[in-house]
Amino acid sequence: MISLFAQIGAAKVGKPNMIVIMCDDLGYADVGFNGCKDIPTPNIDSIAKNGVRCSNGYVPYAVCGPSRAGFITARYPQRFGFERNPQYQPYDPNMGLTREEKTIAELLKPSGYHSGIIGKWHLGAHIPTSHPMKRGFDEFYGHLGGGHTYFPEKLTIQRSQDAKDESESYRTWLMKNYEPVPPRKYITDDFSDEAVSFVDRNRDWPFFLFLAYNAPHTPLEATEKYLNRFSNIRDPKRKTYAAMVSAVDDGVGRILEEILRHNLEESTIIAFLSDNGGPTTKNASNNSPLRGSKGDAWEGGYRVPFALQWKGRIPEGIVFDKPVSALDLGGTIVALANAEVPEEKPLDGVNLIPFLNGKDKSFPHDAIFLRQFDRNRFAVRNGNEKIIIPWKGGAPQLYDLSEDIGEKNDLAKDRPQRVKELDTLRTKWNTQLIEPTFLGLIHSPAWIKRKDK
Ligand code: CA
Repeated sequence: MISLFAQIGAAKVGKPNMIVIMCDDLGYADVGFNGCKDIPTPNIDSIAKNGVRCSNGYVPYAVCGPSRAGFITARYPQRFGFERNPQYQPYDPNMGLTREEKTIAELLKPSGYHSGIIGKWHLGAHIPTSHPMKRGFDEFYGHLGGGHTYFPEKLTIQRSQDAKDESESYRTWLMKNYEPVPPRKYITDDFSDEAVSFVDRNRDWPFFLFLAYNAPHTPLEATEKYLNRFSNIRDPKRKTYAAMVSAVDDGVGRILEEILRHNLEESTIIAFLSDNGGPTTKNASNNSPLRGSKGDAWEGGYRVPFALQWKGRIPEGIVFDKPVSALDLGGTIVALANAEVPEEKPLDGVNLIPFLNGKDKSFPHDAIFLRQFDRNRFAVRNGNEKIIIPWKGGAPQLYDLSEDIGEKNDLAKDRPQRVKELDTLRTKWNTQLIEPTFLGLIHSPAWIKRKDK
């Protein structure tokens, strides 16, 4: 335990706080700063207005679990075998984030940071090894699985370890640290309350808050308070989705107010993003003008709404269009905290600040990578071009995103040299990866039975 004195000392030498607000399954086009018209998101938009909108912001995977495993370690999850959504297995210590990897919270701790996660964990349900507080976080309020029911009256399973599978895990009570808490209210509002309280309680020393709203992931559930704002939307799915996003936006507004109230704007980096692209048919999200949706190697799978602010340190109201990654959020705070990174496990995320404030004019990354082991494919973006290439045979595709953001015109035949260059980057990167280390949600008992036949 680091003393109060040491923590306050750390604050004085200028280690910034970081708040990362991550939505779940939010579409690229579903925030005002990316052009959304039917869902007002003034508070989320204010982050882009008071900071930088990253129009080419990527996550390291196109579904929840691996994307979060990457974010929380600032390393590509394919490096350590987290390449599938984990099954909800409260008694399997290997079903989740390997202990070989350090989380950002673990890296920040020696620099005097207090870290909290509120909301969705999804990096392992085995409490003795995978609970957030076993992985560097000082506090936790949320759920261990990949999604959750929003209405308190539906949360009927008291202990997280009593849920037998992913679908049952949606109905557990939320946990405060290690204790189940009797359900209180619509959980998006509940998470916002906790986040405000976290900022208030930790205002005097450097903190890292991962506010991982499970909204607007299914189930589509919203209260009248938020539904009433969208009488103009006819489609009942889109209407509920809009209400859920609006609840998040209210929460973001309350957190920003709390930051202002304590005069922490200049000492706090606040980032907003989604963990993957919108699954358009499931929750009525919208990724336009990007092609594809959650799970895809098209842009709609893993390019997400992405903005961050840091008053006085990065410009206000600009668009940064070079590719950046969710991995860079950890890369940024770890660098600013002067935290030590194990030599054998360098971060893939970089410190974005010199790029955002214009001191470094180069690209933050040579390439943005995606590998999807179970889908037999890679995507590699270098400059404005991107290849999607099957792993075990098949024709590559090449798109120039500067003139074809919707990935409609395959230029592989016209630009064979570029295909070759991008594929060389892919091959080199792939040598650094391992195969998935655990079965995923798709590997149900029925799937295993079929495979054995
Ligand atoms: Ca997700």
